[in-house]
Amino acid sequence: MGVFETIGTETHESVHFGVDHASGLRAIVAIHSTVLGPSLGGTRFYPYADEHAALVDVLRLSEGMTYKAAAAGLAQGGGKAVIIGDPGKLASNKLFRAYGRFVEGLAGRYITAEDVGTTVGNMEIVATTTSFVSGLPIESGGSGDPSPATARGVVASIRAVGHHLWGTDDLHARRVAVKGVGKVGYALVGMLASAGAELIVADVKERATDAAAKDFGAKVVTVDEILKVDCDVYSPCALGGDLNESTIPQLRCSAVVGSANNQLAVADDAERLAQCGVLYAPDFVVNAGGIINIAAETGGYSVEKSNRMVDRIYDSLTEILKTSDRLGISTEAAAEHVAVSRIEAARKQGDES
Ligand code: NAD
Repeated sequence: MGVFETIGTETHESVHFGVDHASGLRAIVAIHSTVLGPSLGGTRFYPYADEHAALVDVLRLSEGMTYKAAAAGLAQGGGKAVIIGDPGKLASNKLFRAYGRFVEGLAGRYITAEDVGTTVGNMEIVATTTSFVSGLPIESGGSGDPSPATARGVVASIRAVGHHLWGTDDLHARRVAVKGVGKVGYALVGMLASAGAELIVADVKERATDAAAKDFGAKVVTVDEILKVDCDVYSPCALGGDLNESTIPQLRCSAVVGSANNQLAVADDAERLAQCGVLYAPDFVVNAGGIINIAAETGGYSVEKSNRMVDRIYDSLTEILKTSDRLGISTEAAAEHVAVSRIEAARKQGDES
């Protein structure tokens, strides 16, 4: 399929190609929607098999960013960028400066950040040639590491789910099984422990589980066991694709609420979870704390302001769970419904003014 056929004009606002032969830069920025505000999304630096694969990925990822921002109630649109190549071989200050000029040329319709294959350090170089960069270190005027905010959003989500299922958002004595105690998982376990929850953890890295056990009294089980732990909430905070045809029937939790991206292997898994009596809190709603933390940069960043904004995930998720019940649709479908409704309402308002 050709470039123009691949890009759906019905879906994406615009797609931009950036080239700098001197540094080897080949980048694509996809702006899915700016209806709610400037599009925001990270820069993925990846050795795609070919240009078509890069284009398909950036189109898919930018669309996901629109729904994530809209479901979180942010005045922000969805966009994403990819740089084609192996960052280990191609990354250079010259390339990131050229990339910054490319982003600058989009005049703020797209704001970038780090993503897979890029670092905050790379973004500091990008920031020398464009002002449309977010997620820089706090000392450079940015919002810093998003992981604590993401973990805070997971806690708010677990509370919202608790209120929905059991009529209380008190976490005292709630059993939570956390898979993956890295940057987000470790912070999450710390916050849940402070709230009195009972914690069970697993990670492929022994060092990570040792820290969770020592610092927060978490019980450690194997990576194979964590999915089958009898608990209130299972919280996937490792990699995506955790919930599938074979793992879902093994769950012994009432709800799945975690930070990992793309937890469902296929879209039908949302229905499968519901059929197994497990409430699934959509991942892109639960893990929006990171993007909300970046949104808190607008007008001047502070941790307190970010925390207040992240805590609103409780209300966003509650609305989604109620919509799911009311319309008899999966929570995943309800999240999309809420996000699309917000975008449509803003579009209508824009058309009328
Ligand atoms: P991280 O790399 O710091 O932590 C991931 C942890 O999972 C590591 O300790 C790793 O050893 C462990 N792990 C990997 N494979 C595993 C497996 N099969 N079983 C058990 N443990 C395994 O990453 P992170 O920043 O904490 O992010 C965790 C998840 O949340 C990722 O899916 C990420 O995309 C998502 N997420 C993170 C943020 C953020 O702010 N960091 C924001 C949104 C979404």
